[in-house]
Amino acid sequence: MLKFGGTSVGTTAAIRQVVKIVKQAQGRSSTARVAVVCSAFGGVTDQLIAMSRLAAADDKHYRALHQAWFQRHTDVIKELLHGKRQQRVLVHLQKRSRHLLELLNGVYLVKEVSPRTLDFIVSFGERISNYTLAAIFQQHGLAAEYLDAREVVRTDNHFGQAQVELDLTYRTIQRYFRERSAIQVITGFIGATADGLTTTLGRGGSDYTAALFGAALRAKEVQIWTDVDGVMTANPRIVPQAFLVKAMSYHEAMELSHFGAKVIYTPTMQPAMERHIPLRIKNTFNPKCPGTVISQTPKASPYEIKGISAIDQIALLRIEGTGLVGVAGIAGRVFSALARQHINIILITQASSEYSICLAVVPTDAMAARLAIEHELTFELRARQVAPIIVETDRAIVAVVGENMQHTPGISGKVLAALGQHQINVIAIAQGSSELNISVVVARGDIQTAQNVIHNRFFFTQTKTIHLFLVGTGLIGGTLLDQLQQQRQTLKRDYGVTIRVMALANSTKWLHNAEPLTLTAWRSQLKRHGQAMHLTDFITHLRTSRLPHSMFVDCTASEDIAEYYHDILQAGIAIVTPNKKANSGPWQRYQLLQHTSQEQHVDFLYDTNVGAGLPIIRTLKELVASGDKVRRIEAVLSGTLSYIFNSYTGRKPFSQIVQAAHQLGYTEPDPRDDLAGMDVARKLLILAREAGLALELRDIAVENLIPTVCQTAATVEEFFALLPKADILFAKRYRQAAGQGKVLRYIATLERGRAVVQLKAVGPEHPLYRLSGSDNLVAFTTQRYHTRPLVIQGPGAGAAVTAAGVFANLIRIANNVL
Ligand code: ADP
Ligand code: ASP
Ligand code: MG
Repeated sequence: MLKFGGTSVGTTAAIRQVVKIVKQAQGRSSTARVAVVCSAFGGVTDQLIAMSRLAAADDKHYRALHQAWFQRHTDVIKELLHGKRQQRVLVHLQKRSRHLLELLNGVYLVKEVSPRTLDFIVSFGERISNYTLAAIFQQHGLAAEYLDAREVVRTDNHFGQAQVELDLTYRTIQRYFRERSAIQVITGFIGATADGLTTTLGRGGSDYTAALFGAALRAKEVQIWTDVDGVMTANPRIVPQAFLVKAMSYHEAMELSHFGAKVIYTPTMQPAMERHIPLRIKNTFNPKCPGTVISQTPKASPYEIKGISAIDQIALLRIEGTGLVGVAGIAGRVFSALARQHINIILITQASSEYSICLAVVPTDAMAARLAIEHELTFELRARQVAPIIVETDRAIVAVVGENMQHTPGISGKVLAALGQHQINVIAIAQGSSELNISVVVARGDIQTAQNVIHNRFFFTQTKTIHLFLVGTGLIGGTLLDQLQQQRQTLKRDYGVTIRVMALANSTKWLHNAEPLTLTAWRSQLKRHGQAMHLTDFITHLRTSRLPHSMFVDCTASEDIAEYYHDILQAGIAIVTPNKKANSGPWQRYQLLQHTSQEQHVDFLYDTNVGAGLPIIRTLKELVASGDKVRRIEAVLSGTLSYIFNSYTGRKPFSQIVQAAHQLGYTEPDPRDDLAGMDVARKLLILAREAGLALELRDIAVENLIPTVCQTAATVEEFFALLPKADILFAKRYRQAAGQGKVLRYIATLERGRAVVQLKAVGPEHPLYRLSGSDNLVAFTTQRYHTRPLVIQGPGAGAAVTAAGVFANLIRIANNVL
């Protein structure tokens, strides 16, 4: 028994694929017979419903929809069939189409569509698709016949969701098949009452039709062909890391599907289970994949749960009041009242205090459910034993499902911890009495994150997946992306960390995708496929992506971006950045960010703000956290100025040394940015704040090294032309220092609450005396390190070491998560 869903017959390419599959199945066995059940072409059922609703709402647009419907089928028939066969099917379509239009016109006239009429209208979807497919199979040499399931599937008259009379149906099917040998191409989803009225078996009902035929005919297997590899650990559209579940039990499949996994329709499992017929979910577009087998005794799985599913909109009804305490039977009365109205209860929770009962229903049932309960509890409501029923819409349910749960304690704890860590509030929690599922109600807005974090928790304890959103693809950002690409394998193998870059941006363009970006050619991709960059779009994307373990990496020097840090942290997204602007801006913002990071338990790491990859900020934080008191900080914090003064030995003029540094690329494009000392001042400010001082940038006394004679220079060239005029000044300071056996260093000092950045002469006893190259050096003198300071020294500038520092911060966060 083969069933093809709407997506498998959605396009002509897909239909060709279906023909191949059916041919192969037929060819494989000479004895076994093949039968096929098909849905309407993808999307058609929705369109038929839409037409009916428009017509009932007095909206003439139903005619355009009908026309499009007709055209779509005509196109398929013309493309896949030819000759007389094409003619015959086209005539058939035209007849059905006219009939459908008459029905819709009728609806339009009476301005209402009853469930009974609606069922009849939607039946056109499956009827046309299967009639057409039977002809297509014939054209490919298969002995195929169209079977309208209404001839054999007998149901009650609960339109929209009819119940099948199993025994009668089975017998009729068996009789029908006994007399025929051709491949039957059967309309899924539809049936008929004893009076011959058309009914449907509920949305997604073609799966159920296939199981009914499979059970009646005692099929070896029922194959459900769809557009995914099988039942996955979660809906792959919502959880990109979801993977195939190879085997599961009927009960597990039922629970997953009940809580929203529409890959298989819940009632499908019933007939299959009764007759022990395995169900196999397969991918029409990837037939080689073995798919998922649903059976009585599935193979064991190493995971605690089989999968996660979700219903993204439900309504929650709360019945509360003293009247519920200790009074037997209220819950029972409520359930019966709802059952009488055919209202399906998705989930029930009862507080152990018995003071409240919570029921989840689909939103369209919410009002009817409320009325039914109010009616049932009229007396209790009037006597105020029960409070007015509260209806909360905008709720959603996530369920974790699996039989292994029965033997594993702590599953609900894990679910709650995963949600709690991501600030997702749990509104209600229920465990099915079979211990096959735990379901939690959350706010609708949280549903996607909830599924992802739970999925991560149960299926990726070995690997940690980090989602990165990066702005700034200049030297540092670019190098970081390259390093990420090079280290991918090692990270995964040795650290169990997968870093997925989900978006990247420079000042003009940005690139993002639902799938992680490939980093092998990010430069050209950004150039070619990037959209125009607007910071607000990027931030909105970041905040609404809601992927687990999201991180924002800011490799710019932009002040504007720093403005968003607070919102980003507030959204539970970690920030890693070499950008100093946020931490050296207003004290108040610095403090707010620190506070938010602590409060939200979300990392804000900026070790590369000072000394690139050197562990300066981290060490300072640890000293402070362990109760040490900082007495003095003395530091050379600019690689450029370090290089300039370490190379200035009085032999070459100062101006030439600056020139050389410029040519070596050691300075900013405009060397005045280095010489002004503001960058060093910002770094010192950050250190001061980390040491606990509430300073502002203006509190720092900075010696500006741009000589007065150069201050009129408009361009870098002019600056260099004027710089030699200052050579004597620097030479004089150098000689003075040398006379005392000292050297010049541009030093940032923090002592007794005063922060100063200036060019100073230091003697051989000073830690900064022996500095060389472009090294940074920080000396912390503290309560503990008071005789000799704690010194950190090393290369403190350059793209490679800075990017490596950012990288190290990412890994630190990855190691803390989960
Ligand atoms: P068909 O048209 O073949 O009946 P459906 O759209 O009804 O297909 O069902 C397949 C879809 O079910 C998939 O495309 C996927 O988006 C969704 N789905 C939801 N949960 C799961 C899951 N756990 N595993 C696989 N697919 C799922
Ligand atoms: N065509 C029906 C629906 O869309 C039945 C099915 O696809 O299974 O609900
Ligand atoms: Mg389906």
